[in-house]
Amino acid sequence: MNTTMQKISIEKVKTSKIDQVDFDNLDFGSVFTDHMLVCDYKNGAWETPKIIPYQPISLEPSAKIFHYGQSIFEGMKAYKDTENKIWFFRPLDNHRRLNISAKRMAIPEIPEAFFMEGLKALVKLDEKWIPQKDGSSLYIRPFIFASGKGFHASPADEYKFIICLAPSGSYFSGKVKVLIEEKYSRSANGGVGYAKAGGNYAGQFYPTQLAAQKGYSQVIWTDDNNHEYIEEAGAMNIFVRIGDTLITGPTSDRILDGITRKSILQIAEDEGIPTEVRKITVSEVVEAAKNGSLKEMFGAGTAAVVSPISTFGFRDVDYDLPELAESYATRLKKRITDIQFNRAEDPFGWRY
Ligand code: PMP
Repeated sequence: MNTTMQKISIEKVKTSKIDQVDFDNLDFGSVFTDHMLVCDYKNGAWETPKIIPYQPISLEPSAKIFHYGQSIFEGMKAYKDTENKIWFFRPLDNHRRLNISAKRMAIPEIPEAFFMEGLKALVKLDEKWIPQKDGSSLYIRPFIFASGKGFHASPADEYKFIICLAPSGSYFSGKVKVLIEEKYSRSANGGVGYAKAGGNYAGQFYPTQLAAQKGYSQVIWTDDNNHEYIEEAGAMNIFVRIGDTLITGPTSDRILDGITRKSILQIAEDEGIPTEVRKITVSEVVEAAKNGSLKEMFGAGTAAVVSPISTFGFRDVDYDLPELAESYATRLKKRITDIQFNRAEDPFGWRY
C-alpha cells in the first residue's frame, strides 16, 4: 500500500454559502459545507487528496457502485469548545473501522495519513461551519465507493474516497418507540453486519417502513438464527438496564463495533456502574419489563449519542419503560458529550 502522500491541494469556493444557513434550526445531515475532500484510487494506488468546492460528481453508468453496491462509509463528528478549539472524538478508531469495512468489501484500504491529514485540512478550512449551539456539531461523512466501470461482478479497479461535512442538530427528537423485529434480519453470521457497508442500511429501510406503519420509529434487530437475542437498535448499538446492571451485547460478525458503545461501557465502568457484555435474550427483556426490573433501554451511536427508548413493541404488545429521575442514559450522555465538547477532563485520552 502506498502510504506516502504529497501536499493536499486546496481549491476554495468563490463565495461561501454559509450565510444561507439557519444554524438555529439544523436538521441532521441535510446541509453541506463549502468544501469536500476527494481522493482517487487509480492504477493500484491512492492519488494525492484534493479539497475542492462541494459539488456533484460525474460517474459512468457502469460504475460498479451502482450495480454491486461496493461502498462503505464512516460517521464521526467535530466539536467546537467555548475557546473555539476544534476537537475530534477517537478519529483513529473511525479510520481503523473504515479499513475493516474496506477489507470485507474488497475495497483498497486507505492509509492513515490520507484519512487524518485530509480530515484535518478539510475541517480546518470549513471550521466556521462547526455549530456551537448545544447539542449541535459538525457531522463528518468519510466514504469510499467503486467508481471503476464494468458489468463484470468483481471488484472495481478504481475508487473514490470522499469526505463531506454537514453541520447538524440532534438526530432524534424525543423518546423513541421501537419494535422488536422477528421476521427480517439486518445481518447474518459470516455476512457484512460488522462493516459499514452501504447496502446494510438499504436493507434496513423496508422493515423500518413496515414498523413505521405500525407506529414505531425504529426496529430492534435480533439475531438471524432464530431471533432469540436483541442485537442493535436501528443503526445504533443497544444497551439495556435490568435492575442496576447495564448490559450490551458482544460485538460479532453481525454487530457493528460502535465507538459510542465502547466509550459508554468504559465510562460506566469508571463511574462504578455494574456492566455486563453478554448476549441479551428477547425473553429476558420482556420478562424484566413485566416484573418491573427493566429500567432503561437506549441506543448508542455517533449521530444521536444516546437515544432513550420509551416503549418497545413485541408480538403486538407494547411495553412502556419507566420515567426515571436519574437515568443512566442521561448521566452517560452528559459525561461523554462533556468529554467531546471539552467541558470536562478526558481521563481516557479520547479527544483529538
Ligand atoms: N450500529 C450500526 C449499525 C451503526 O451504523 C452505527 C453508527 N455508526 C452504530 C452501531 C454506532 O456506531 P458509532 O458509535 O461508532 O457511531
